[in-house]
Amino acid sequence: MSNRNVPVVLHFNNSAIGVKDDKQEAYILILMRRYSLLGIEHPTHKRVAGVTSRLLIANIKVDEIRKRRWSSVVVNNPSNCNAFVMPNGFIFVFSVLAAVANDDQLSIIVGHEMAHCILRHMDHRRSLTTRRSHETEADRVGLELAANACIDVTQGYQLWETLSKLRGPNTRIWWLKTHTTRKSRARYLYSLIPATMELQKQAGC
Ligand SMILES: [Zn+2]
Repeated sequence: MSNRNVPVVLHFNNSAIGVKDDKQEAYILILMRRYSLLGIEHPTHKRVAGVTSRLLIANIKVDEIRKRRWSSVVVNNPSNCNAFVMPNGFIFVFSVLAAVANDDQLSIIVGHEMAHCILRHMDHRRSLTTRRSHETEADRVGLELAANACIDVTQGYQLWETLSKLRGPNTRIWWLKTHTTRKSRARYLYSLIPATMELQKQAGC
């Protein structure tokens, strides 16, 4: 790991990782050893952090958003295209996924991961059926969170089209692998557009 990643370590130390979060902290440390994490001054990290901040500010009235301490981390790995969240509010976005998504799509990705966290989807073992219903729920709530931040809500289903074109021998699209049934999800995100646009009217977007 290069020196430029050191500020990220300090960033972690400064955030609220309590004793009960030991397992999560251990996992973060494993990830840090295995992959290079972008430093907090890196433009991609700043972009992801900016999108995350915008989502948090726009949704500050949501208890589960306000009460939690959120952190965003960019994993610098050219062959994995992924994003995930941990119960302690650490949002991991892989650099490939950040690179292919425009800012609105990035907001929808981060919103989706935030939704998993605030809906406590990671707190128990999930069957395939449960996982699918969680994905649907995170798609809806995530798009609503992003809508409150006045992003272009039509980018949700377009994101899935962008990702499907990414398939290649050198890129493992984990976000697609764990987020199955692409076509039906694109349709679902498309169906959410009128309701989320209504939310945006109320939010004064
Ligand atoms: Zn998900």
